[in-house]
Amino acid sequence: MLVLNNKCNFTKNEFIDYQKELQEIAATADVILCPTAINISNFNLTNISLGAQDVSKFSKGAHTGEISASQLASYNVKYCIVGHSERRTSFHETENDINLKIKNLLENNIIPIVCLGETLLEKQENLTSEKLTNAAKKLKNNLTKEEVNKLIIAYEPLWAIGSGLIPNITELEQNLSILKQNFPHNKILYGGSIDTNNIKIFQESTLLDGYLLGGLSLNPTSLKKILKILKNN
Ligand code: PEP
Repeated sequence: MLVLNNKCNFTKNEFIDYQKELQEIAATADVILCPTAINISNFNLTNISLGAQDVSKFSKGAHTGEISASQLASYNVKYCIVGHSERRTSFHETENDINLKIKNLLENNIIPIVCLGETLLEKQENLTSEKLTNAAKKLKNNLTKEEVNKLIIAYEPLWAIGSGLIPNITELEQNLSILKQNFPHNKILYGGSIDTNNIKIFQESTLLDGYLLGGLSLNPTSLKKILKILKNN
């Protein structure tokens, strides 16, 4: 599974051109494209599934600027990223907000892709295991078992996002195994500075079900390369 997070990129025409290139991608893996919200209505690919980057914690009403889960569902959105570190940090999103968002998504049959990960400071202070365990606990406390089992979990160390830095395989497997213990029935993805050279390192993992790509999602040529590498392994 490959989740493409376009973040706040592509004007309308740029997105149309980008999609033309993605059209050629053979559906060799489950690929989910999460465009900027305004480009969702221009999505017209049949080889790729549609995702969103965020959703409102409100179900409808007087919440200027928000987009609800039912509105996303009405545009055939099937997946939605929740709790991305950029939303937690820049938009002060709390665990409670994330929980409300997950509930709204599930009520509308949209699969949440929930992002979790440690900061650089937490990693340096050997607090990663505690951070991931606590985050998993908080998430599960507020959801039923059935709800938990529907989530896709994305392990995204904050220090790896957009930085060019990646965990080594030992570190990766250690952290993924914490998530696997907490989410034994869920798909687990990794995201953070994946590129066409380092993807091989992640392929060594026995615990990963796929990848979340930010920067690389903007480059169809690199995407095609990644899909080729994944197909050949
Ligand atoms: C992300 O922000 O979810 C991400 C994976 O970004 P990048 O690939 O650019 O590090």
